[in-house]
Amino acid sequence: MKQICRGCLLIGNGRHGLFSGNLYVAIAQISLGIALIAINIDHLSGTGIIIHILAIASIIVGFLNFLDSRKPGRICPRCNKSLMVVIESKEGQKFIKGNNVSLPNETNEQPQD
Ligand SMILES: [Zn+2]
Repeated sequence: MKQICRGCLLIGNGRHGLFSGNLYVAIAQISLGIALIAINIDHLSGTGIIIHILAIASIIVGFLNFLDSRKPGRICPRCNKSLMVVIESKEGQKFIKGNNVSLPNETNEQPQD
């Protein structure tokens, strides 16, 4: 799935931010949540419940992060702005038509600089 940067017109693959869509951060967040629940499993009332709520929040954030990591990133590797869109998408097609961007031939791809 090729993407285009709406800032500098680079065609390629977008990156994820350090903490968004990072698979390793997602795994860490989910593991932390599970560990907190495991450690605190005997304390289901009083202040212990706060730890469980935080643990569940950590698992949810980690899960969303995991889903995000499966999607292409939006950060352009050249200009570092979060402006990358998938060429085949509605948003990408609209941008290409609206700005008269000529795409390189898929079979004979040349870097445009
Ligand atoms: Zn760019």
